[in-house]
Amino acid sequence: MNDNYRPQRHHTVSRWHGITGKQAILTLIIAGVVSILAGLTELALDVRSMRDEIQDRTHQLLELVDGTAAEAAFQLNPSLAEQVADGLFDEGSISEVELRDDFDRVMVRREQRQAPEANWLLDALFADMLHYSGTLEYDMDGYAEPQPVGEIEVRLSMNSLGETFFKRSALIFSLSVVKAFAITLLVVATFHFLFTRSLLKLHAAIAVVDPKRPGNWPKPKLQRHKRDELGHLVEGIDDLLNAFQQGLEQRDHLRQISTMDGLTGIANRRHFDAYLNDEWRRARRLGTALSILFIDIDHFKAYNDNYGHIHGDDCLRNVALLLTDSLSRPADLVARYGGEEFVCVLPDTNLDGAVRVAEHIQETMLAAGIPHAFSPTHHHITLSIGVASGMPTSEDDHADDILNYADRRLYQAKAQGRNCIVSSDSACILGAES
Ligand code: GH3
Ligand code: MG
Ligand code: MG
Repeated sequence: MNDNYRPQRHHTVSRWHGITGKQAILTLIIAGVVSILAGLTELALDVRSMRDEIQDRTHQLLELVDGTAAEAAFQLNPSLAEQVADGLFDEGSISEVELRDDFDRVMVRREQRQAPEANWLLDALFADMLHYSGTLEYDMDGYAEPQPVGEIEVRLSMNSLGETFFKRSALIFSLSVVKAFAITLLVVATFHFLFTRSLLKLHAAIAVVDPKRPGNWPKPKLQRHKRDELGHLVEGIDDLLNAFQQGLEQRDHLRQISTMDGLTGIANRRHFDAYLNDEWRRARRLGTALSILFIDIDHFKAYNDNYGHIHGDDCLRNVALLLTDSLSRPADLVARYGGEEFVCVLPDTNLDGAVRVAEHIQETMLAAGIPHAFSPTHHHITLSIGVASGMPTSEDDHADDILNYADRRLYQAKAQGRNCIVSSDSACILGAES
């Protein structure tokens, strides 16, 4: 698995792109459409009742003036007829009134000056119910039945009707809009409280998952969703993240095993090779020196043969520990090259610096004083060290070359009596004597 992998994250969600925002907009659109349709239906019903109301009111009005109008027609009394007409006209909803006597002569006629505004909707809804006429009958002495004495005719004002109609429509539509908003608010609040809030909690928890430790995520507690899909989703994500965490731990463990020497716990040969190549390339890029120490325990076969393999292994572990403690820079690496041989990579270190490190290692070994009674040269464990340093400048400079130099100098250190540091092809720096 690539270590540099980073999941692409888009955690910030703008207000209107969030679930609640989308819910609000969608609900508002749906509620708006539904409320328009409901408003239209309500309006259609209202038109019907409005027509009934107008017809009833007009008939009542005509009934109210019927007696007086009939008396005016019977008496041929124009001023009474005018009173009747004015009374009707003043009511406001009537645009034309005409009273005729029995001989079809106009006794009075009142007409609204203002021309009605042309409106196809009002025409379609009310044009058929504007005109009313009635026969005026009067109870005359000598007749058993009331006798016709004239006619009354009225025409309703379309302007006044329109005004009433539009006022009522506006009220119905405003109520629909208020209803739509109220429904939206209720639906959004309910859904937010029941579902979206929990989803947002889950989203927030996932947003802070540490890709290096996914199992440690702040698993949300969704009280009301333990048995539903949301609860299952949280458990599913939890299982997934825990499995992922285990995978990462296994990966780290395997990586550690593959780069670690099993006996001493320090870097193994494979890790050394990779590290040396990386550091060699870095040295070439930065124009810095890189040094290598090739270290071999003196007369270790004799140690092993006399103290036994188990003590030999202990000794190898001790030497590895002492070598690790002797290096101070974080970039320095000590590795087991094989058997009783160790290598140190010292990045950004020239030959003088590397020799100082080698001397420090030998001082540390002397101070540790691991007894070696069977060494032909010393009484304690000593090391021979070959030192090489290089400053790579081109692709042709290989890390193997410097390693070979160090190896060759180690061989020279052995040849020159052991417990010795060789850093050039001629001289040997002898280790401290006990
Ligand atoms: P020199 O001073 O020339 O280096 O002599 P030497 O005896 O140290 O070198 P030689 O190569 O002859 O012997 C190395 C010995 O290291 C052989 C083996 O007994 C021992 N050895 C190698 N690997 C291990 C290991 O993993 N555990 C133990 N206990 N001993 C090992
Ligand atoms: Mg050896
Ligand atoms: Mg040896």
